[in-house]
Amino acid sequence: MVLRVKNVSKSYPGVDGAVPVLRGVDIAMSAGETLALTGESGSGKSTLLHVIGGLDIVDDGTIEVAGQDITGLDDTGRAALRRSDVGVIFQQFNLIPSLTVEANIAFQARLAGRFDAARLAQLSDALGLTPHLAKYPEALSGGQQQRVAIARTLLAQPTLVLADEPTGNLDEATAADVLDQMLALVRDTGAALMVVTHSPVVAARMDRQVHLSQGRLA
Ligand code: ADP
Ligand code: MG
Repeated sequence: MVLRVKNVSKSYPGVDGAVPVLRGVDIAMSAGETLALTGESGSGKSTLLHVIGGLDIVDDGTIEVAGQDITGLDDTGRAALRRSDVGVIFQQFNLIPSLTVEANIAFQARLAGRFDAARLAQLSDALGLTPHLAKYPEALSGGQQQRVAIARTLLAQPTLVLADEPTGNLDEATAADVLDQMLALVRDTGAALMVVTHSPVVAARMDRQVHLSQGRLA
């Protein structure tokens, strides 16, 4: 199993005390599996992605990524997890404006100690980014920037890719195109992929769909 989430709960502080967001979430994913996470706005989808990706901590329950229990990790341990095992693709692309497209793509792989120039060339080609490598992110369209974010994550070869509405900012045709490329590349690397999406079309492209409601998955 690449991911095993067991009985995870998390609350946020509210004016009248703690507001529960996740209430006993269980989920498991095996290598190479793709999964769509749906749910109303505010249902806790991003929160779940953040705790799996080590960007936030749970109140209760356990999360194992690639066999390692990450719930006991300190900041340093969670940072190492994000460098080596989990790649997160956000809706906002989070590219570094002062770095070229090529340096942005290389960034995470270098941190992970997995930089491979041939693979960078191959990924850039597959994602139509080769003519743009020397440019800066601001010179690219939204769809192109999202492709850079995808390339950056995949070049680092995480075992688990988490994507939070990765095509939410793109027009329908571009979104379908970016999704096709992301799925092909994820299958190619054998990574598991969890995608948060509002789109039934995107959800239907995944192996499995789960819905988050009232803090639980169904
Ligand atoms: P979704 O991604 O499904 O729209 P979120 O996980 O972003 O949902 O948020 C779930 C709930 O938790 C919402 O009610 C939101 O307002 C609340 N929430 C999210 N992050 C925080 C935070 N850092 N502090 C307090 N409340 C938060
Ligand atoms: Mg969200």
